[in-house]
Amino acid sequence: MSLSSRLQRFSEPETLRMAKMGRELRAKGFDVIDLSLGEPDFDTPEHIKVAAKVAVDENWSHYAPVAGYPELREAVCTKLKRDNNLDYKPENILVSTGAKQSIANLIMALIDNGDEVIIPTPYWVSYSEIVKMSEGVPVMIRTKAEAGYKVSAAEVEAAITPNTKLFMFSSPCNPTGAVYSRDELAALAEVFRKHPQVYIMSDEIYEYINYSGKHESIAQFEDIKDRVIIINGLSKGFAMTGYRLGYIAGAPEIVKACEKIQGQITSGANAVTQRAAITALTTDLAPSKAMVKEFEQRKKVMMKLLAELPGVTCIEPDGAFYVFPDVSCYFGKSDGTTTVNNSDELCFYILENAHVTTVTGKAFGEDKCIRIAYTNSLPKIEEGMKRIKEALAKLK
Ligand code: PMP
Repeated sequence: MSLSSRLQRFSEPETLRMAKMGRELRAKGFDVIDLSLGEPDFDTPEHIKVAAKVAVDENWSHYAPVAGYPELREAVCTKLKRDNNLDYKPENILVSTGAKQSIANLIMALIDNGDEVIIPTPYWVSYSEIVKMSEGVPVMIRTKAEAGYKVSAAEVEAAITPNTKLFMFSSPCNPTGAVYSRDELAALAEVFRKHPQVYIMSDEIYEYINYSGKHESIAQFEDIKDRVIIINGLSKGFAMTGYRLGYIAGAPEIVKACEKIQGQITSGANAVTQRAAITALTTDLAPSKAMVKEFEQRKKVMMKLLAELPGVTCIEPDGAFYVFPDVSCYFGKSDGTTTVNNSDELCFYILENAHVTTVTGKAFGEDKCIRIAYTNSLPKIEEGMKRIKEALAKLK
């Protein structure tokens, strides 16, 4: 078989691979606890489900406009004003089949062969791979736990070259949970002000899952706003991963470019989902807030359980629903049969010995760590962490 060279440039998402391996083990009859998945274990709020059912009954079954229904693009603007005090018009908005597609559209619209894309690590798995798919060059800045896994203005400045086209980051961050403050974003904006060729992709999909207070967007700095592309979606904050809805907010030229790409690949996002999204974005956030409260409770328990693992260190996340502990003290150790040398091998060791799924830090650009999601019930989290503790104790 002769497949394209493009396939050689990138790998499949490690997060999805781990979930698949967990399912396979479960199918063999093992009691597998899933702490790998990047999705809320909550149901979609009732009033949004009703909106989806009404949309089916009202026959929203035809092709939707590629950029999204005008009412939905308007609803996104209403949300951006309500939550972020940002002024956008519908021409600034493009709706897609998940934030992942929004990101892919954007990279394809901006990046040419050899363009450099600065990505602070740890980063969400797909950033580097989508850039490579588009023949761009990911330029990683390794951030440290001591800095809260946040990149500084000076580090970004030092990484910018005449070939830099894009800076991409998430706040709250998947996998570290780092949340950038207004001052930290202001310092980054100051750097971008000096480099007008650089676009900024601000992935805000975990906006609502924030334990540190107010969400801040780098788009608030007016003089760089034209070069900021906000990525957001319904997957995390509204527990709607399967509905598949993401959007961008950015300059009309960028929106049009992304629309052109999407028009040849998927067309408009699912019509029923779009109608439900209008309700999600413009109505009561109480169910989302209740969900976040529960995540915060679990985070506290998770931090306590992590503290019981000898040698493991972890900064407390301010957002998202993951912990990203440094587990490198176990590298080079063995249970008598298996020697664990890196984060990949530690995740497999945990899966095989504790029957718990986690994700290798290598996939996020930080091999010292693994990602553990608290998107499971408290009893499952407690049982999963107990099993991890027992499995790690065997490594000498
Ligand atoms: N950005 C980040 C940081 C994510 O963690 C995810 C999902 N794991 C996405 C984007 C994509 O979300 P979706 O395609 O479900 O909207």
